[in-house]
Amino acid sequence: MHARSAAESSKSRRDTAAGRGAAGTPPSAFRAPPDRPLPATALPALQRGLGNAAVVAMLAEQTAIQRSARPERDVQRADVDMDDADMDAITAAYLQDRRNAFIRALRTEFGDNGWSWSGSAPNGEESFRATAPTKQSKPKDFSGEPEVQALRWVSSVVKSYLDMGDPKESQHWPLNPVEVQSAIGGDGTLIIAANDQSSNARLQSLAGRASSGKALLDTFLERNATRGTSLAKPSEHREEIEKRLHRHHENLKELLSKEPASHSAVMEALKRKITVASNGDAALHAERRIAERNQGTPQFIAGTKRPCVSCFMANYPNGSELHPGIFHSGPASNVDIDEYRNGMNNNSDEEAREWAKRLFQRMVDAGVTSTYQTLVWHCGRKVYVPVPEVGTDSETGG
Ligand SMILES: [Zn+2]
Repeated sequence: MHARSAAESSKSRRDTAAGRGAAGTPPSAFRAPPDRPLPATALPALQRGLGNAAVVAMLAEQTAIQRSARPERDVQRADVDMDDADMDAITAAYLQDRRNAFIRALRTEFGDNGWSWSGSAPNGEESFRATAPTKQSKPKDFSGEPEVQALRWVSSVVKSYLDMGDPKESQHWPLNPVEVQSAIGGDGTLIIAANDQSSNARLQSLAGRASSGKALLDTFLERNATRGTSLAKPSEHREEIEKRLHRHHENLKELLSKEPASHSAVMEALKRKITVASNGDAALHAERRIAERNQGTPQFIAGTKRPCVSCFMANYPNGSELHPGIFHSGPASNVDIDEYRNGMNNNSDEEAREWAKRLFQRMVDAGVTSTYQTLVWHCGRKVYVPVPEVGTDSETGG
């Protein structure tokens, strides 16, 4: 096929496709011999007439026919035939277009229901973050929940260790765990996970070598304490964040040395080796790695961030006293959320909207009506101030 004739046939096909698609009539024109490339501009009309899966199948079939029919000498003539890379690019662009349609539908759904959103478009993909009318979580003393209290300290210390790296280890470079969560699993062991898999791999290696969870945490405390560097990344609330982290280090250190009866569940768990929940997709959120490994949401779980909306509805479908954080529209936050997966594979804008509504409803069913901000004691001003970098429930203490 010559380049000129391909362009001409593409034009006539595009015109026909648009007309028939808009009229809702069967797209019989697309049953023409599939030895000609489909123009990308025909895809929306094809999608309306045939649906997403059928279009992808058609593209795949066309690619296969072109490959088998193409004379050897044409393999080098990418300027003449639409080659495999073109077909792949068209398919990818089409699927991306459908995914973007779903994300836009979700954004509309959140907006229509009174949520605020902000968004950016990294790599050409639509994305946004949404918050419900925000509440500040009131600072509370966790002494009445000793397991949760200790798990908060453990998560802070583990995250600090990973954030800073460890010059005494062969794998010494700083990592970005994003978030660390700790839990007491159904079998009584301590389960820890980070969002980031490199962090999980390093934790796994260190936990395997340590004789017990307590030994591992003793090492982390010792290594963190001897570092001259900051425990926190740059922030206008650097001092408050550092003080809070320092307090968590001191509290965990005291707990491990005194082993008070009040925290016996955690102390028992720490006699054994720590389980690192490294299962799951590349950036799966830590609490969902843990729930997956534990085959259910643990009774006691606490980390460096509150559950995002997607984690909240996945781990607590019937609600929880925990305070959810923001909604992230990205795939990593929504792994295994059926409404999201189906929405991303939508066949039409209408279907995208339907899945967006279902996802939002699932969130409402889980009891999410507000998202929460964390307050931290401001040493200088002697008041609690919102500190977005600390994403977990507010605690008392200066
Ligand atoms: Zn999450």
